[in-house]
Amino acid sequence: MKIICIGRNYTDHIKELENEKPTDPVIFIKPDSAVLKLTDDFYIPEFSNEVHHEVEVLVKINKLGKHINEKFAHKYYDQISIGIDFTARDVQNKLKEKGLPWEKAKSFDGAAVIGEWLPKEEFSNLNDINFRLEKNGATVQEGNTSLMLWKIDELISYISQYFTLKIGDVIFTGTPAGVSKVNPDDVITGFLEDKEMFSINIK
Ligand code: ZN
Repeated sequence: MKIICIGRNYTDHIKELENEKPTDPVIFIKPDSAVLKLTDDFYIPEFSNEVHHEVEVLVKINKLGKHINEKFAHKYYDQISIGIDFTARDVQNKLKEKGLPWEKAKSFDGAAVIGEWLPKEEFSNLNDINFRLEKNGATVQEGNTSLMLWKIDELISYISQYFTLKIGDVIFTGTPAGVSKVNPDDVITGFLEDKEMFSINIK
């Protein structure tokens, strides 16, 4: 499986990092080796002094497709979750300055947390889902999918113009504001509506 991530999909987060608002979705890929098992702790890699959490809504692909029309995009996924796009911000900033790809900052081992999956039928409106992240019991990031610049079906259609989507692929749909550094002994816990989807110890 592959992980396809969307950058800059929430206006408040674009402002927070002083990025330009994109005219098309920003896309990057994480390999399957980036997935952190939910039973494992997250170890801050030695090459970074500033790893940020980015909580994001996830979509799991259940049907092979390419060049998917937005109208039919809903037929290509059946489960929703949330996860963390861990980002070595110091590394990413250096790469950005030089116009280089972001993989070293975002695709390292453990950089993708994938929460428990819920059937999409559990949500009456996928474009109105609340999610949030707690760090050590305090809410640090809050979002609602209605605030996405590109909604799930638009993203699936857009991504599939470039990459064939395969069964089991996961899409990270972008993070809202509130990203911050994780430190050893932090515990980060993700909630989709009021359901806990993951809880990770930082080492
Ligand atoms: Zn992200």
